[in-house]
Amino acid sequence: MANDGNLWQHMHDQLVAGELLEQVKVYATEYLQQVNDQRVFPDEAALGGLAHFDEPLPQAVGDSEAILQNLHEYGAPATTAQIGGRYFGFVNGGILPVGLAARWLADAWDQTAGLYLTSPIAAKLEHISEKWMVDLLGLPAGTAMGVVTGTSNATMCGLAAGRNTLLKNQGWDVNEQGLAGSPAIRVVMGAHAHGSVKKALALIGIGQKQIEIVPIDNQGRMDPTQLPELDNRTLLILQAGNVNSGAFDDFVTLCQRAKDAGAWVHIDGAFGLWAAASPNTRHLTAGIERADSWSVDGHKTLNTPYDCGLILCRDRAALTAAMQATGDYIQYSEDRDNMLYTMDMSRQARGITLWATLKYLGREGVAALIDRLCDHAALFSEQLQAAGFRVLNDVVFNQVLVACDSPNLTETTLRHIQQSGECWCGGSKWFGEPVIRISVCNWMTTPQDVERSVRAFAKARENAILEITTQTE
Ligand SMILES: *Cc1c(COP(=O)(O)O)cnc(C)c1O
Repeated sequence: MANDGNLWQHMHDQLVAGELLEQVKVYATEYLQQVNDQRVFPDEAALGGLAHFDEPLPQAVGDSEAILQNLHEYGAPATTAQIGGRYFGFVNGGILPVGLAARWLADAWDQTAGLYLTSPIAAKLEHISEKWMVDLLGLPAGTAMGVVTGTSNATMCGLAAGRNTLLKNQGWDVNEQGLAGSPAIRVVMGAHAHGSVKKALALIGIGQKQIEIVPIDNQGRMDPTQLPELDNRTLLILQAGNVNSGAFDDFVTLCQRAKDAGAWVHIDGAFGLWAAASPNTRHLTAGIERADSWSVDGHKTLNTPYDCGLILCRDRAALTAAMQATGDYIQYSEDRDNMLYTMDMSRQARGITLWATLKYLGREGVAALIDRLCDHAALFSEQLQAAGFRVLNDVVFNQVLVACDSPNLTETTLRHIQQSGECWCGGSKWFGEPVIRISVCNWMTTPQDVERSVRAFAKARENAILEITTQTE
């Protein structure tokens, strides 16, 4: 059928008939209806099904229905139930119905979000979302926003803007002169900075030996009393939401010190910056408005579909100068050109799903979402302690760090939790001790999900004790 010369006509008919979209609607609905009942991590059989995809590159044009059928049959079972209520791994978030649907619609539009001229609607909705985000987070009026893949990318953009500005203040133009022979700049960050920060620094030409590490307190917060003297050649990198404990740096004190010294402050707030959007957690982010740049994810706490990261920068010109691109064919407009704020030129119009999510939730809905995550984290902590587990952090936001009576028992219990299919958590180290790391970051989680997960923890610990005693017998 498809390769008989009528391929293009066939594809045209498929697009306008909408049958394939109807087909995936059925598949997706089926998936969504059972996602809370499926194993949270696939079992061996489902993983075995992935072998189905091992084949040489097809020679001939295939069959769209069969391809989608394959995905449904062998792909869906090998997903993690990330959008369900009992996935607590990493800080992965969920999806709102409106975000998912807007994403599908935007996918059908297939807009290139770089320029106003490539997509007026993408430009408009990123412009609106920028204003809403600045309002929601209480950042300085006029703060610029770029919509990127995630916080790793956003942090790199913010740090590049900061580096260039600090050097520009010393008469050095990075875009013109590069980095070789430039005046030295300093980087100061806490001992618990996220791995993506070091990676971003390396990518902008700052190596690990150049970083001045500030000691932290028992929650992973930078200790302000140990902050070195700052100056106007310093990038100070702070954290809203420690990736393990969820703790927040003391922005009031640290940002003031930086301002007095003329340093540039970047805040990595991948999931935690959202605390600013709820009256109940806003105190955690007091002082963030004095920073210069901020990175935050939509795909974590806000529960937009993947992917959506945001770079926010107080000095619009500093960000656009760092992200500048030229080319004879590029036509900037009087309206917003999204590519001025990011590294990408061509990219998906993820601002559309961001806008739809913010428009749907509104200020109150965003606050309720954040409160819900925090409440469930607190419930987790309470119930786990009642079940005899140790909680190692102050549960101030959505993160709970759990340990058993010995490191070995913690690690073995975690393995049993991961294999149980009942819920899924990752592991981490907290001051050298292995921990089970719970991130509550999906609106879908209910108190019943928390209770069921706590039972799964207890059962996993029983199995772990059995396993350990059999081994040592
Ligand atoms: C997730 C996370 C990042 C990285 O964000 P991506 O969106 O995965 O690139 C950086 N910092 C913190 C604190 C995070 O939690």
